[in-house]
Amino acid sequence: MIYLDNSATTRPFDSVIKAVSENMAQNFGNASSLHKMGINAEKVIKDAKNTILNRLGLDGNIIFSSGATESSNTVIAGIPKAHKHDGKRIVTTSFEHPSVENPLRELEKAGFEIVRVKPPKRDEPQDYEQRIIDAVDGDTLMVSVMWVNNETGFITDLSKIYSAVKRKNPKTTVHCDAVQGFCKLPSKTLRADLISLSAHKIHGPKGIGALYMAKGIRFEPLLYGGGQQGGIRSGTEPVDMIAGFAEAVRSYPDFAGKYAELNGMLEKRLSELPDIRINSYGNAKNILNFSVRGVRSEIMLHFLEEREIYVSSGSACSKGKTSGVLAEFGVPDKDADSAIRVSFSPFTTESDIETLVEGIADGITRFRR
Ligand code: PLP
Repeated sequence: MIYLDNSATTRPFDSVIKAVSENMAQNFGNASSLHKMGINAEKVIKDAKNTILNRLGLDGNIIFSSGATESSNTVIAGIPKAHKHDGKRIVTTSFEHPSVENPLRELEKAGFEIVRVKPPKRDEPQDYEQRIIDAVDGDTLMVSVMWVNNETGFITDLSKIYSAVKRKNPKTTVHCDAVQGFCKLPSKTLRADLISLSAHKIHGPKGIGALYMAKGIRFEPLLYGGGQQGGIRSGTEPVDMIAGFAEAVRSYPDFAGKYAELNGMLEKRLSELPDIRINSYGNAKNILNFSVRGVRSEIMLHFLEEREIYVSSGSACSKGKTSGVLAEFGVPDKDADSAIRVSFSPFTTESDIETLVEGIADGITRFRR
C-alpha cells in the first residue's frame, strides 16, 4: 500500500497507538480530580503542552480542543466578542480552509468587513505577504492567514506578516491555521497570537487538536461548562488523546528537506509525461498538486486505488464538492476537474514516487481522450 493522502489524514505512528492505549488503560483519571489519579492525568496534559510549545518554538499557552476546526471556530467567534471596540475589519486570504472561511462568512453576515487577499500569480514577484500587510488599517480587528495551503502546499511567511501587522496596528490579533505545516516544516516562518493545530495530520489520533495562545491574548470561549482549561475550553480533557498528540509531535522527524526532495523528484518525473499541468507553485514542500489533462480526477484516483496507491482528487474539500481554491491559484476549471493532490509523509520513499509515476503514466495511456 502506498498512502499519499497525508493532507487528508495520516496513519498513526505505532508509538502514538501505544501512548493512547497505555493512557486509556492506566491513566484514566479526571485531570480535575484532587487525588493521585487526577494529578497524574494533569501531568500528562502539562507535559503535552510543553512538547507542543517546544516544537512551535513559542512561549504561551496551549488549549486542547476537538481539532483544528474547533480551534479556528473558537478564535473567529471569540475574538470579536471580547474586542468589540477594536474594529470591524478582518483580513484573510481567498484560499483558507472551510474551517476558517465558513465562520468568517458568518461574521460577514453579522456586518464585519472581510478582506480576502489573493495568492500571488505563478511567476509573479512574491508581493503577496505585503498585500496582506497593506490591507491592515486602524479598524482591523484580526488577521487570519493559513500557513500551508492544504490543496496546493503554498507556504505563507507568517512571521513577516506578524511583525509588520503589529507595527501597523498593535491591537490587531493574528491567527494562523497551521494544520498542514506543523511538524512538517521548521517553525521559523510561523508566528501568530493564535495558532490552530490538529493531531491527525501528524500521525496522531483524530478528534484532538490544539489552540496556541500567546501571552495576554483573550477571547470569549465557544464552550461553557465546568471551567476546565482555565475556563477557555470547558469539557473533561481527553488525557489519552492528548498523550497521543504529544507522542506524535515527539516522534515526527525533521523531514522538511526530504519533503522538498520528494516534491522536486515527483515534479520532475511528472513533467516527462504528456499533458501534465503542475498546479502547485511557490515553495510547496509536503504537497504537490497537478492535473492530468483529459483524465478526470476521480477516474485517475480509482485507477491508482486498484494498485493500492492512495491520493486525493485535487480540488475537493469535501466529498464531491469543489472548493474553488485551485481557481484562486490560477487553475482553469477544466484542469481543476482533473487535479490530483499528492501529500507526502515521513513514510514516503523515492520508490513510492516511482510507482506512483508509473501508475499515472499507465492511467494516461488508458484513459486520455
Ligand atoms: N485546516 C486545514 C488546513 C486542514 O487541512 C484541515 C483538515 O482537513 C483542517 C483545518 C481541519 O482540521 P480538523 O480535522 O482537526 O478539524
